[in-house]
Amino acid sequence: MKRPCSDDGNRPSWVPLAPETQLATENNQANEASEMKVLAINCGSSTLKFQVIEGTATDRTRGEQQRLAHGLVDRIGEHGEINFNSGTGRRLVQPTRVADHAEAMVSLLRWLQSIDLMGPDGIAALGHRVVHGGDHFTGPALIDDQALDAINSLSHLAPLHNGPALSAIRAARQTLGRSMPMVATFDTAFHRTMPQRAACYAISQELAARHHVHRYGFHGLAHHYMAERYAAITSTPTQELKLITLQLGNGCSATAVEAGRSIDTSMGFTPLEGLIMGTRCGDVDPSLAGFLAQQEGVSIEQVEDWLNTRSGLLGVSGLSNDMRQLLAAEREGDSLAGLAIDMFCYRVRKYIGAYLAVLGGAQAVVFGGGIGENAAEARSRICAGMEWCGLTLDQERNNRAVGREEPISADGARVGAYVIPVDEESIIARDTVRCLEQSRRA
Ligand code: ADP
Repeated sequence: MKRPCSDDGNRPSWVPLAPETQLATENNQANEASEMKVLAINCGSSTLKFQVIEGTATDRTRGEQQRLAHGLVDRIGEHGEINFNSGTGRRLVQPTRVADHAEAMVSLLRWLQSIDLMGPDGIAALGHRVVHGGDHFTGPALIDDQALDAINSLSHLAPLHNGPALSAIRAARQTLGRSMPMVATFDTAFHRTMPQRAACYAISQELAARHHVHRYGFHGLAHHYMAERYAAITSTPTQELKLITLQLGNGCSATAVEAGRSIDTSMGFTPLEGLIMGTRCGDVDPSLAGFLAQQEGVSIEQVEDWLNTRSGLLGVSGLSNDMRQLLAAEREGDSLAGLAIDMFCYRVRKYIGAYLAVLGGAQAVVFGGGIGENAAEARSRICAGMEWCGLTLDQERNNRAVGREEPISADGARVGAYVIPVDEESIIARDTVRCLEQSRRA
C-alpha cells in the first residue's frame, strides 16, 4: 500500500500514482489464467447487490466471465425485498424487512449455501466494493484486521457507504471464517492517477496536507468498467484511449480517461462536487454553506445535509429525485421539473466541453448509470448543440438504446457516443482474482 499523501506540512497534498507503477502491475498479470469463483458484493447506502462470477485475472470484464448467480437486497432498514437468482433457475424472491447490511449478507450466504455454491468447488473468494479508500488504498487490497481498521478510519469521509460495506465484510468474516480470502476494491482508487493540477484544491497546501484534503473522485469502478468495455468492443488499444465516461444515476460523475487512466473527474473530496445529482447540488460557490447557515440560523452540518439530501433534481423540482418522474411531469407542463432537467443536462454538457479541452479531443462520450443507460431524452438534451466538436447523435439509435450496450452516434461522427450499462461487480470479481494471485506470488 502506498501513502501518496504526506503528513509533512511542507509537501503538496497530492502525489499521483506513478503511471509506470500501474502499468507494471497490469503487465505482470498477463500470464495468469486460472479460473476462480468469486462472490462480488456491492453495498449501497440501502442496498446490497451481488454476483457470483467465474473468471480469471486477465478477463476484460463481462464478455469473458461467467455469471453463476446475481441479485440484491433492496431497501435495507425498511420493508424491502430479497431477490436472488442463480444461473440454473433457482430463485428466492421475498418481500421482507432486513435490518442492516450484516443481516443482508448473512441471508445471502445462507441462500448460496442452499444452492451448493459454498462447497469445495464453489465460491473461493469474496470481493467487496468500498467507496472511500482515502490516501491509504491505491488499488485492491487483501482484507485483514489492519485493512479493516484502515477502512474504518475512513468512514467519516463516506459515512453512508463505508459503514455498510464494513458491516457486510465483518458479517461475512464471522460467518465464513478468516480462511475465506476477501479483497476490498475502492471507488477512489481509479482516480489515483489524476495529476496534481487536477487533484489539488487551490488552498494552502500546508492545510491540505495536514487534513488529507484533495480531490479523491468516486464511482471509480463504474468509470473503469466503461473505459474497459469501450476498449474491448471497439478494439481500441488501452494506450490510445481518450474518453469521457459519464456515470449518471442517483449519484452522477464525469471522468476524463486517457490511456485507460483517470486524468480528471467531477467528484472531489466528497461525492458532492461536480454534476447535479438526484439529491446533491454538485458545484456551488463554497461560500454558500456559511451564508445559508448564518441566514437560516443552523449549523454548517445542517446546510451540508441539505446540499447532499435536499438539493439537485429534488431540490430544484420540489417534486422528485427520479428522472423518470421529472420527465413525465415536464410533459404535463411542470416548469420546475423542466428547469431541473435543463440544469442537469446543461451541467453535464459543460463538463463534456471541459474534458474535451483537458483531453485535447476524445474518441467518444460513454453513457452509464440509470439515467445514462435508459433516458434517451436526457442523452439527447445533453448532446444538443455539440455538433461543433463532432459529437452528433443518431436520434433513432439513441431512442432504441435502452439499457443495452450500443453506439448511438451518427455515422461518421468525429466524437462517438455509446451506451455502456455498467457492471461494477465484474470489475470487483476480476480485481479480486488479480489481487489474490499477486499476493500468492509475493
Ligand atoms: P444509483 O446511483 O442509486 O445506482 P441508478 O443508476 O439506478 O441509481 O439510477 C437511478 C436514476 O435512473 C433515477 O433518476 C431513475 O429515474 C433513472 N432511470 C432509470 N430508468 C430510467 C428510464 N427508463 N428513463 C429515465 N430515467 C431512468
